[in-house]
Amino acid sequence: MKQSPELEVIQTNMMPGTLSAHGFIGEDSRNLADILRADAKALKQIGISQMTLADKMQELTNFGIPGLGRPMPMNNRFEIEVEDYMGRLPCPFQDNAKVDKRQTRVRRLDTGVIMRWTDLNIHMIREHGFFEGHGSIYRLDPVELSRFLGII
Ligand SMILES: [Zn+2]
Repeated sequence: MKQSPELEVIQTNMMPGTLSAHGFIGEDSRNLADILRADAKALKQIGISQMTLADKMQELTNFGIPGLGRPMPMNNRFEIEVEDYMGRLPCPFQDNAKVDKRQTRVRRLDTGVIMRWTDLNIHMIREHGFFEGHGSIYRLDPVELSRFLGII
């Protein structure tokens, strides 16, 4: 589907080497409007809001921050490891948001499954409903993420 000129500009910002070395679209051949629409639809089908997901991700990240890079067990359910990097990253959605460079790696203690996200992922999910394109290194599938976090 055709997208607005505004989304065109944002999608250009998401190409590798513009705001981040790897970009945000990966190998996805869809345009940004279609990527956003598909993930919004997937969330609607499972009845979970982007806010609920972002809140839970932030809760886990906040829990891991005092560990300073050491794995922190949480409720016998997760093991959380947070790495802080110097500096901040601009959000590609042109909202003047700058987000701390931080990565959270979480392992489910029952299944061993690992997922990871950045503070920018949390911001983009909460504010823009954006989970990145297929093949992008920080792509998060909304349904897998909901299951992983124990929301469904
Ligand atoms: Zn933003």
